[in-house]
Amino acid sequence: MTTLSWGAEAWAEVRLSLDHCIKCTVCETACPVAAVTGLFPGPKTVGPQAERFRAGEHSPDLSVDYCSGCGICSRVCPQEVRIAELNSRARAELKRERGIPLRDQLVARPGLLGRTGRPVAPLFNWAMANPLIRYLGEKTVGIHRKAPVPKSVGRTFSYWVSHHRSVPRERRVVYFHGCSTQWYEPHVGQKVVAILEHNGFQVVAPRQDCCGLPLQSNGIFDAARQAATRLARQLSVSGTEELPIIASSTSCGLMMKREAREILGADTAELRSVSSRTYDIFEFLLELHQRGELRTDFKPVPLTVAYHAPCQQQNQLIGKPALEVLRLIPGLRLLELDRSCCGIAGTYGVKREKYDIAMQVGEPLFADILAAGPDLVACDSETCRWQISGATGATSVHPLEILHRAYGGS
Ligand code: SF4
Ligand code: SF4
Repeated sequence: MTTLSWGAEAWAEVRLSLDHCIKCTVCETACPVAAVTGLFPGPKTVGPQAERFRAGEHSPDLSVDYCSGCGICSRVCPQEVRIAELNSRARAELKRERGIPLRDQLVARPGLLGRTGRPVAPLFNWAMANPLIRYLGEKTVGIHRKAPVPKSVGRTFSYWVSHHRSVPRERRVVYFHGCSTQWYEPHVGQKVVAILEHNGFQVVAPRQDCCGLPLQSNGIFDAARQAATRLARQLSVSGTEELPIIASSTSCGLMMKREAREILGADTAELRSVSSRTYDIFEFLLELHQRGELRTDFKPVPLTVAYHAPCQQQNQLIGKPALEVLRLIPGLRLLELDRSCCGIAGTYGVKREKYDIAMQVGEPLFADILAAGPDLVACDSETCRWQISGATGATSVHPLEILHRAYGGS
């Protein structure tokens, strides 16, 4: 059997971290999946403990497939053991040994579904909402019939931006919009452009494909590595090599900041450059504010908004910049939802065998939202927004949509 072609240096660093485990069980206490199912024995057991027996290839059991990849364990470990990263590689090896199911091949390619649905958006949306079709989809493909599925809006962000007349400015940024903005939520990208232009930037939005994160989390590493390196090339169009890159999807932003290099071992000069220049949009806006450069000509927004910081945003270790920026808006009543995970973890919670686990993981968050009864829920990650809306019926928006409204947008 051939092993995965990892960047040797990146992997060596991740694997060596297991020797720092002192068995304190902090990760076990924090893992949201181990808390709700006996199918997953916990991060310490599946991570550093099992890794000693894998000899680079084999997992001692199949339980690592139940790790959602939320990354909470790596974030809380006092010894900086790279538990989630160890699990990610072990899951990829497992998939390599056992084969990757068609279902996982499909959900790992959001562009495929987006391209299929766009020209026939009403039919696509009808099919995705039809109980019989969803039932058949669960039985045949393995996507849970109640799993949240985004709606196609029949248009793309790239089409909109290609017709958008931007004013040349001295200060420029590159916008990394991600697949959800491209195929399902072009309005999010339009608002990003409006906010950045309002603050005096010219926005460059080159053609771009998937970052490879769903491929990575489904264990399809070779294709994920190709996607990440291709995107790094696309985001490095001529004349923009030094510009900040602004990401509005926290999970895709984290992929380009760190995970493509640290988990996949992808290593090109373009990727290293892109990693060092990528900012979460609120991280960027908060830095502007701290330098006194953020426009604060806000109109009051008389709404109650409950904010959930998704795992992949918290894994960026940048605090909660969306909260800090939204707190500047007059009239806005902001509630911080202090829960760790909504359960969806990208594509994890849409799978037939994991849907119930994902819903149990998210239950404390859903209960807090239902108890608070906000006008809106704000969350930086698209799949988390879809999960929250599906589970609670609440309207979920990207926090930048609140900011856009405060700047006078609709
Ligand atoms: S938190 Fe870190 S040090 Fe503690 S048991 Fe987990 S892996 Fe080991
Ligand atoms: S990544 Fe998340 S689900 Fe996986 S072991 Fe760590 S905390 Fe648990």
